[in-house]
Amino acid sequence: MTISCGECRQGKWGNWNCCARTNPNGREQAEYLRVPYADVGLIVIPDGLDDEQVIFLSDILPTGCQAAEYCEITPEAEKTIAVWGCGPVGVMAIRSCFLLGAKRVIAIDEVPERLALAHARGAETIDRCVLN
Ligand SMILES: [Zn+2]
Repeated sequence: MTISCGECRQGKWGNWNCCARTNPNGREQAEYLRVPYADVGLIVIPDGLDDEQVIFLSDILPTGCQAAEYCEITPEAEKTIAVWGCGPVGVMAIRSCFLLGAKRVIAIDEVPERLALAHARGAETIDRCVLN
């Protein structure tokens, strides 16, 4: 879950995960969570979604999608995008790049299973270990 004041510079840009005002002690872990400014970024979870689906939709997918959006991809630009790391967020970034119109996506990782997942999603892959 992302908590944001919605009023700071990052919040006005829609970068709610970068809000320093609502998360000044980000390294600490808590057993309970109070949600200040809950009216800014929270959404009602539709019926029929389990916890794993909701976590996926509220964290992994938007993070990968946001990374792809920062690349300013359009079909007309015919961009080649490199994605370092092919874990869940990396795979979502790869898929988002293609959805936005990237011409090529090059996926870089060192874990064979992750590279295989990236390849299955259409990326060209590079084993990071062979670059050293
Ligand atoms: Zn803020």
